[in-house]
Amino acid sequence: MALERVIGRVPQPRRAALARVRDPESGELIDEALALWFPAPNSETGEDIAELQLHGGRAVIAAVLAALGKIEGLRPAEAGEFTRRAFENGRIDLTAVEGLADLVAAETEAQRRQALQQLKGLLGDRAEAWRQQLIEALALVEAGIDFSDEDDVPKETMARALALVTPLVDEIAKAAEGGQGERLREGLRVAIAGPPNAGKSTLFNRLARREAAIVSPIPGTTRDVLELHLDLRGYPVTVFDTAGIRPTADPIELEGVRRATEQAANADVTLWVVDATTLAGAGREVIALPQGGLCWVVINKIDLLDAVESRKIELSFERELTVHLLSGLTAAGVDDLIDHIEKYASEFFTGETVLVTRTRHRALLKETAQALAAARRAAIEGREEIVAEHLRLATRALGRLTGRVDVEDVLDVIFRDFCIGK
Ligand code: GDP
Repeated sequence: MALERVIGRVPQPRRAALARVRDPESGELIDEALALWFPAPNSETGEDIAELQLHGGRAVIAAVLAALGKIEGLRPAEAGEFTRRAFENGRIDLTAVEGLADLVAAETEAQRRQALQQLKGLLGDRAEAWRQQLIEALALVEAGIDFSDEDDVPKETMARALALVTPLVDEIAKAAEGGQGERLREGLRVAIAGPPNAGKSTLFNRLARREAAIVSPIPGTTRDVLELHLDLRGYPVTVFDTAGIRPTADPIELEGVRRATEQAANADVTLWVVDATTLAGAGREVIALPQGGLCWVVINKIDLLDAVESRKIELSFERELTVHLLSGLTAAGVDDLIDHIEKYASEFFTGETVLVTRTRHRALLKETAQALAAARRAAIEGREEIVAEHLRLATRALGRLTGRVDVEDVLDVIFRDFCIGK
C-alpha cells in the first residue's frame, strides 16, 4: 500500500500518528508529519483515505507530491474529486454537494448559515422524505390497477394514495415559491447609476473604503461595471458602479452604457445619483428616474450647498420617494445610506429558513408540484393510469433534485466550481 511505502506503516484507523515521510525509492527523509488513516467505508468518500499533515512549505509539498508520484496508480486529485466520489458512493446527496460548494464560497454569516443547513440536508432530507411518500402512493395506485377487476380495491387504494399526495401538493409548491435563497448566495444587488459626473465612482469608493473605481473629472471614464462585495451585518450586498448613463457615440462608452443599463435593470435597488448643484431646488421633475425596480435618489455633492439650499431640495421631493442627501467627497450622509441598505438587506433576507438555494431546486420543485397537481386531478377523475404516470414524473423530479436519478448532465456544472482537495 502507498502509505506503507512513504511512511513505512499504516497507523491505527482514525488516530493521528507521527510519520516520517520518505522518498519511496531513495528512502531520503522528506518531512516529519502527521498521518491519518480512514479505511473504507467510514471515510469522507466512502473509500480508503490516507491524510498526511505536512509542514506547509512549498518545497515540502512539492517533494512529497513527487515522492507519491513515483508510486504506481497514484495521481493528483482533480478539482472537486473527493466530493464527487463521496456523491457517487452515496455518502452525500447532490443538495449537500451544493451546500458544501456554497460553504467554501461563503463570505458572510448569513451565507455560511444557509450553506451549512444545505450541507446538513435541510432540502435533501425533506425531498427524500417526499419522494418516499410518493413512491408509496405510486405503489398503491399500481396495486389498484393490478386489481382493477375487483370492484372495491382500486377505489380504496386510490383514496389512500390521494391522502398521501394531497398535502404534498401545497407543501412542495410553497417550498418552490418561498424565500430568497438564491439571492443570499449572490447578494442583494445594488446598482449605482445616474448621469455622468454626478459622483457615482466617488460614492462607490466611499462604500468600498478603498480606491476600486477610477475617479476622474472627465465624464464617461467608468466604462465597465465594477463590483463590490459588502458584508453588512452578515448579509451579502453586491454594489455595482455603472458607467455614466448618457447618450453617446463612442462605441466603448456605448458598451459601458449598455451594461450599466442592464445592471440597473437587474438590481434590487438602484441608487440614482444626481449632482445637487444641477438641481437648483427644482426637485424630482428634473430627474429622469429609471423605470422599474426600487430606486432611491442620492443627491450628491451637498458639501457645495449651504444648509438652506439643501433643505429646499429635500422639501422639493415627494414624501414617498426615498432621498439621501450626501457628499461622496466629505462622506457626510454616507453612513445613513449604508444603514439604510443594511436595514433593507435584513428585511429582504428575512430570517425564515429557506429550502431553495438554487434555480435548479426551484425548477425541479415546481415540476414536482405541477405533476402532483395533475396526478390529483386525474385521481379525482378516477384515471389510474394517468395518476401513476404523473406520480412517476414527480418522483423523478425529486430524484433529480437529490441526485438519485439521471443527473449526469448537471454534475459537471455543479462540480466545476470546486477547488482541488475538496
Ligand atoms: P461619476 O462620473 O458619476 O462616476 O462621477 P465621479 O465620481 O467620477 O465624480 C465626478 C467629479 O465630481 C469628480 O471630480 C469628483 O471629485 C467630484 N465629486 C464627486 N463627489 C463629490 C462630492 O460629494 N462633492 C464634491 N464637491 N465633488 C464631488
